[in-house]
Amino acid sequence: MSEHLDGDGATLDPEDWGAFRTLAHRVVDDLVDRLEHRRDEPVWRPMPPEVRHAFDGPLPRHGIGAEAAYDRFRELVLPWSMGNDHARFWGWYMGAGNPVGNLGDLIASVLNPNLGGGDQAPVAVESQVVRWCAEVVGYPADASGLLVSGASEANLIGLAVARSARLGPQVRTDGLADLGPVAVYASEEVHSCHRKSCELLGLGEAALRRLPVHADLTLDVAALEAAVAADRAGGVRPLAVVATVGTVNSGAVDDLAAIADVAEREGLWLHVDGAIGGFLALSANPPEAVRHLGRADSVALDLHKWLQAPFDVGLALVRDARAHRDAFSVVPVYLHHATRGLAAGDVWPNELGIDLSRSFRALKVWLAFLAHGAESFGRVMDANIAQAHHLAARVEAHPDLELRTPVGCDIVCLRYAPAHLPPEVLDEVNRELVLRVHESGVAIVTESVVSGVLVIRVAIANHRTRTEDLDLLLDTLLELAPGAADAVSRG
Ligand SMILES: *Cc1c(COP(=O)(O)O)cnc(C)c1O
Repeated sequence: MSEHLDGDGATLDPEDWGAFRTLAHRVVDDLVDRLEHRRDEPVWRPMPPEVRHAFDGPLPRHGIGAEAAYDRFRELVLPWSMGNDHARFWGWYMGAGNPVGNLGDLIASVLNPNLGGGDQAPVAVESQVVRWCAEVVGYPADASGLLVSGASEANLIGLAVARSARLGPQVRTDGLADLGPVAVYASEEVHSCHRKSCELLGLGEAALRRLPVHADLTLDVAALEAAVAADRAGGVRPLAVVATVGTVNSGAVDDLAAIADVAEREGLWLHVDGAIGGFLALSANPPEAVRHLGRADSVALDLHKWLQAPFDVGLALVRDARAHRDAFSVVPVYLHHATRGLAAGDVWPNELGIDLSRSFRALKVWLAFLAHGAESFGRVMDANIAQAHHLAARVEAHPDLELRTPVGCDIVCLRYAPAHLPPEVLDEVNRELVLRVHESGVAIVTESVVSGVLVIRVAIANHRTRTEDLDLLLDTLLELAPGAADAVSRG
C-alpha cells in the first residue's frame, strides 16, 4: 500500500492534519498572547542552569512528535529569548519587530519560495520593496538593490561594487595582486563591519583609513582631503569613502554634502552606511544630510533596525544598476534564463549579491508598508527622537548623571558620575550598573566607549517605547547605582 503514501511513507507532513491545525492555532494564540502582554514581563532574564544544560542533549534519533517538541520550545526557549520585542529594550541597536511583519515571516516560511530568481510574484514583491526604499532614499527608479541579511552584508556589497567599478572588471578574474595598495576612508566612528568588508574583499584592514572626528563625532572632512592627498603622494590608490548616517555609538550624522563634494572631486566611490538613519527622510524633521543621500553611489540600509522589520533584513542599494550586476553576476548553465516559463526573467536577484538561494524576506516588509504606510515609520522615528531628547534633558538636569555625547538620531550616551566617586572607578561602576539593570529585568541598555570613556548607551529604535518607560529607566539607574558603586569599591 506504500504507493498511496506521500513520500512513500517518508513524508514529514502530519498524518492527521486536524491535529496539526489545532497545534498551529495554539502556536498562533500563544504568540499573539505574548505580543499583547509582553510589557508586563521582564525584558530579559538569565537562563537557569537546568535550562542551559537542557541544550547539551544528543541528536534525537527518534522524534517525540510536534506537540511535545512545541512544549519543549515553550519550556526551554520562549521565556529566555533576547527580549528585543519588549518596549524597554534599548540595547546595542535593534528594532522590536512588528506584528504584521511577524505574519509575513510565517507566510513566507509556508510558501517557501526561493528568491534566487525566476518568474514568480515573490521576486516582483522584492523588486517593489527595493523601489519603495530607493524612493525614500532619493534614488532614481532604475537604481538596483538587493535585500540581504543586514547592513553588514549590504555594506560589503556596496564596497564590492566599488571595487569592481573603480578598479576594473579584471579584479574579478585576476584579483588584486597587480593593482598595488588601495585605500577606503571613513571616520573612526565607522562600524566594525567595514573592517570585515576590507578583509573579505582582499583590501586588508590596513586599507581602511579611520579618520579623526569633530567634537560632534562626525567625520572631519579636511582630514579626509588630507588623507587622500597623502595616499596619492605615497602611491596608494584612493578607492572609496564611507559616510555614516547615524553612527552606531552615538547616532552622529556625517556631513554628506561636503563628503560628496570631495568624493566627486577626487573620483572616490561614495558609499553611505545608512543602517541607522537611512530612512530618516520619512521623519518630519530629517537631518540635512538625508537630502543628499541620492548622491551616494551605494547605500546600505537596515530594515530590521528603525524600520521595525523582524530579523533579518537589510538592503544594498546601488545607483548604477549595471555596475551592481557587473560586480556579482555569474550565470552557470543550469541557471539559464529563459524567455518563457518559470526560468524567465532578465536579471535574477542572485546575480546581485552573494547568495544563490534566498528567503522571501521581502514579504514582511511589503506587508508592513502596505498595512501601515511609509509615514507611520516616520512617526515611529520622530517619537523615538523625541524620547531620546527627553531622556537626555533629564540626564543633564541630574547632578549625578552626565550626558556624554550630543543626542544623535535616537541614541543617548550617559554615565553615572556623582561628585563623591573618584574618576578612575567610573568605568567599572557604569559597567556594573549596566549588568544590574539587565538583571533587574526592567530594561536593556548596553555599554560602549566614546572618547575613551565607558558610557551607558540607550538606543531607542522601538515603536513600543513610551516616554514613561524612559523615566522608569532613569529611576532604575539611580536606584541601582549606589549599590553598583559599593560593589566596585569593595572590589
Ligand atoms: C547595525 C549596524 C551595522 C551592521 O548591521 P547588521 O544588520 O547588524 O549587520 C552597520 N553599520 C551601522 C552604522 C550599524 O548601526
